[in-house]
Amino acid sequence: MPNSQIPAPVMPDTKTADATPIWFDPSLCLIGGVWTPACSGETLALVDPSDGSNLCQIARGGAADIDAAVAAAEAALAGDWGRMTALERGRILTRIGQLVLERVDDLAALEVRDVGKPLTQARADAVALARYCEFYGGAADKVHGETIPYLDGYTVYTLREPHGVTGHIVPWNYPMQIIGRSVGAALTMGNACVLKPAEEACLTALAFAHIAQEAGLPAGALNVVPGIGAEAGAALTAHPQVHHISFTGSVATGALVQQAAGKNVVPVTLELGGKSPQLVFDDADLDAALPFLVNAGIQNGGQTCSASSRILVQRGVYDTVKARMSAAYGDLTVGPAADDLRLGPLISNRQKDIVEGFLAKGADLEIAGQGQIVDSAPATGAYVRPTLFADVPADHALAQQEIFGPVQVLIPFDTEEEALEIANGTEFGLVASVWTRDGARQMRLAKKLRAGQVFLNNYGAGGGAELPFGGVGKSGHGREKGFEALYGFSQLKTVAAHHG
Ligand code: NAD
Repeated sequence: MPNSQIPAPVMPDTKTADATPIWFDPSLCLIGGVWTPACSGETLALVDPSDGSNLCQIARGGAADIDAAVAAAEAALAGDWGRMTALERGRILTRIGQLVLERVDDLAALEVRDVGKPLTQARADAVALARYCEFYGGAADKVHGETIPYLDGYTVYTLREPHGVTGHIVPWNYPMQIIGRSVGAALTMGNACVLKPAEEACLTALAFAHIAQEAGLPAGALNVVPGIGAEAGAALTAHPQVHHISFTGSVATGALVQQAAGKNVVPVTLELGGKSPQLVFDDADLDAALPFLVNAGIQNGGQTCSASSRILVQRGVYDTVKARMSAAYGDLTVGPAADDLRLGPLISNRQKDIVEGFLAKGADLEIAGQGQIVDSAPATGAYVRPTLFADVPADHALAQQEIFGPVQVLIPFDTEEEALEIANGTEFGLVASVWTRDGARQMRLAKKLRAGQVFLNNYGAGGGAELPFGGVGKSGHGREKGFEALYGFSQLKTVAAHHG
């Protein structure tokens, strides 16, 4: 919540000895290589969702801070950063990745408190951030233009150039991974970035910027302005000197971001979530599938854009899958993030209310399985029981809308055609998975499923930095990750020389 009464900086004082060691002042913005309070002097409280306590204060950046950050980014492009070779940029990215790896435990400890992420998952996110930096660091000098055979007397070639200043609006669910895939790729191509992390969770964004400075990233190449979406976020997307916007978050906000970008006619990458299905056929290897069926729905408390919230099961194995998933749900425990159980709290009590609202919509459905909240979980934390609903009609709200909580629905089907129709029958299209031993069916469905990524006999493929990622329909457009992101964070110039 905004809190302009508390002067910056305010370090955590409500924690006991095991409090997160925040090794930097979290109440500042990074602008042009200088850590500075928001122009207004105002701060916002960050809340630890495990117990609802006040973790620290962060800057409440606004339009003036965004103006300064964009100016600093432009200065970096006109200075050392803009003159750097691809090889030098790659070396810096690689060094950032190495420093992130050395500080995995520190970064994970921040995320445990800030996002409420169980320690194991928080560590995995920090390792993934390092991996993005390593991948993009190595790729920096391997993206190039081409020569094009043309008319007699011409030599034609293309150059890959940065957009210029790129805006990055990041949500609270996977800050480290999303910063790695978007800021990492943008820096690699020589853009100068302005990052607006989520107001609910921004400590690892700030930590990342400190690490990038330590690794030698020139001043202004990365600027960070925490703040409220409607203030700092809206100012960033409307800024006429921002040349590309990368947004991850809700559909409603994504539509606003696209409108704002449209006014300035700049490209946007939108990653907006989904209702991703797993299709389980009678011939599937159920032992292999089962861990993925459950984990893909409850990882990070279901607050994952690519969460698998719909499990479509062919009737021949429906009862078996239902019984086995039900048993797996019985083993799920939810508690404080530091306890490192399968699920921590949700990001906030606001998100808990949203998820409980969806659970209420399922009041007339069969609950096939539920996890348990441990007794030690504080009543002030944002805890919900993971819940599996059975025999859910494909057009039910729980089978159509993104819940962003640990809720999955089981939907029976008879034929491949019916499964495809149900799978493609939402407004989203982020990822999808097929579990079958039938190779021809795998190929057919891989082509026909409406999704940006399709997994055959797995789910998520380990989330590799190498794999282009993004959606269709209301899941968004544009691709991040892999080399595809490097093309997205650059523009092609065609040079045609007439020499006779
Ligand atoms: P949100 O879209 O409001 O926030 C995401 C980011 O956008 C944050 O950094 C926020 O500050 C910023 N933002 C908000 N309003 C803005 C504006 N007008 N202009 C520019 N930036 C703005 O999402 P939320 O409120 O945090 O979560 C709401 C729902 O969004 C969730 O329940 C979930 O369904 C979805 N969500 C999806 C993802 C994803 O990875 N796809 C991530 C977070 C949330």
